[in-house]
Amino acid sequence: MTSSAFSYRNGTLCAETLPLAEIADEVGTPFYCYSTQQLQRNYRDFAAPFADMDATICFAVKSNANLAVIRTLAACGAGADITAAGELERAMQAGVKPEKIVYSGAGKRRDEIMAAIKARIRQINAESLSELPVISSVAVELGVTTPVMLRVNPDVDAKTHKHLATGHKETKFGIEMAQLDEAIRLATTLPGLDFKGFSVHVGTHVMDYEPFRLAYRKLADLVKSCRARGVKIERLDLGGGVGIPYDGQKLAPFADYAAVVHDEIAPLGCAVIFEPGRRLVGDAGVLVSRVVYVKQGVTKKFLVLDAGMNDLIRPAMYEARHGIVAVRSSGDAETETVDVVGPVCETGDMFGKNYSLPKMQAGDLVAILQGGAYGAAMSSVYNGRPLIPEVLVDGARHAVVRRRLSVAEQMAWESMPEWLASDRAV
Ligand SMILES: *Cc1c(COP(=O)(O)O)cnc(C)c1O
Repeated sequence: MTSSAFSYRNGTLCAETLPLAEIADEVGTPFYCYSTQQLQRNYRDFAAPFADMDATICFAVKSNANLAVIRTLAACGAGADITAAGELERAMQAGVKPEKIVYSGAGKRRDEIMAAIKARIRQINAESLSELPVISSVAVELGVTTPVMLRVNPDVDAKTHKHLATGHKETKFGIEMAQLDEAIRLATTLPGLDFKGFSVHVGTHVMDYEPFRLAYRKLADLVKSCRARGVKIERLDLGGGVGIPYDGQKLAPFADYAAVVHDEIAPLGCAVIFEPGRRLVGDAGVLVSRVVYVKQGVTKKFLVLDAGMNDLIRPAMYEARHGIVAVRSSGDAETETVDVVGPVCETGDMFGKNYSLPKMQAGDLVAILQGGAYGAAMSSVYNGRPLIPEVLVDGARHAVVRRRLSVAEQMAWESMPEWLASDRAV
């Protein structure tokens, strides 16, 4: 249930060798904790089956944008998949080489495209016919030729949550098959563009590898038909989206995904790019929270935590169910069934119903598992809550890699207009 980096030692849950309770005493709760070893292991596990291909693994920064996390993966050899210019700054600050950065996104602004081309990133994945002339005009303005890919919408059903699917034709993502001829024409004729190939991303948290097979097969057919027409295809970007098991879920081995890539894509002899996010960071992080109240209702028992939907929005947004465990667990403790909720004033602020946990008291710690992806990255200050710390563990070492943002700092972002500034206004 817990990944190998988070396991019990002497009845207490540890990150690698460090008890999470000790970190809680140091930084307070709630906080995110990431394991370096798990990040490294996940990167190695992803890369190993593709060692025989010309493969670049670009970490999807949107899943966890912490600089230390990006840098840890970059040190393993990862590039970055970015979705906005802010993530370009982060990736470069973390030490990712621009030639390993790829940029996807349905709404890239001109200034963002400008920043990406100036940085000389590996490629821009264009997502619409409207975007290509903008990339072209920026490249021309800068007097350069810039590598572009066309993000294809393969129209496959990713069989994931409706808010996580991106590869069917009703979504805003990618260029529909019917418009590809026109897109290829633009990409190969507009000035300043160096057309390299296609990208595809079917969705995120995809638990069944068949949608990948379908999408990759369409991509392969496309490559063949382009080549038959004399259009050169050098690279394919296979996107991200490989799921991880959340609470009680089962997933076919990663080798099965690798086999799909080998079957469908390897024979084409293209360079390939992967854009994994969740698969690299999901199980490398936990959210540690303290029980504020044990609330016995008339029919239900609730654990009210000090972490809320602003810290981890996935349950509210995607009906996700994360594993939740007690940080101290003697193994034979009496368990009970509880709903686990946060303190935010929203009915949706609930981590999940009917968790079986050891009997807990106010002040006890829980760990919400699989918290490394789309956790801290999607957090907000809703309800006037501070952004929470992120801690990175490496063996016996640990460091606070983002400190808690105080409410005073939050308020310092704001300013009072001059007409409200005087005491008389109130
Ligand atoms: C979100 C996203 C990813 C990463 O998805 P994961 O499920 O975290 O692997 C990769 N590529 C693109 C284009 C994305 O939008």
